[in-house]
Amino acid sequence: MAGKTVVLKKTTRTLAEQGYLLEVAKGLGVTLKHFFKGTSQLATGHKPSPVTDPYADGCATLEYPEEKRPYADRWRGVHRLTHREDGSPRCVACLCCSTACPAQCIYIKPAEYPPGDPHRGYERYPEEFVIDELRCIFCGFCVTACPCDAIRMDSGIHMTALGDRASFVYDKAKLLSIPGKDGTFKSANPRHEPGDPTHPGVDRLHDGH
Ligand code: SF4
Ligand code: SF4
Repeated sequence: MAGKTVVLKKTTRTLAEQGYLLEVAKGLGVTLKHFFKGTSQLATGHKPSPVTDPYADGCATLEYPEEKRPYADRWRGVHRLTHREDGSPRCVACLCCSTACPAQCIYIKPAEYPPGDPHRGYERYPEEFVIDELRCIFCGFCVTACPCDAIRMDSGIHMTALGDRASFVYDKAKLLSIPGKDGTFKSANPRHEPGDPTHPGVDRLHDGH
């Protein structure tokens, strides 16, 4: 079935618009209007707060980074790695997050616990854990995929614009140094650590690992 053809009219400029002077004067008028409005607000002390007042109150300019608008509660922020009680990462190097990541921006080098360590045979630890935040699309799949609540996007920290690419590549130490919005490094979901009396495998033999 043939589509309907719509012929659009070509817009034409008026003589005044082609002359530019009137348009320049109109633009200058807008600039002066905002200049005098801003100056009088400063003089009278009635300047709307760019942080708390809505745009409709006339504040479109924010002196970032000194002034920041509060983020919505659902804003997540850059990644962090949660800690165990002893400060080590809760990550068990299962690679679920890096497998789920559509941007393939997570690199993990898993390592085995030494013989005799209660974690050996149950889980591994990340010798290296790197996220390239520039390639990340902030989809949150890694957080959803993690079985240990070891990776989170609840820091509320906005990535600062930096001049070099290397600053956006977060290594294990950097990811462990970022707290959650509540200021803690912990996870909300406690788990039974291998070696704890509450761990379901405590009575199993796992010699030879
Ligand atoms: S938020 Fe998405 S893109 Fe970013 S690291 Fe996680 S899974 Fe990958
Ligand atoms: S962060 Fe979670 S999903 Fe990723 S490797 Fe560690 S335990 Fe597995």
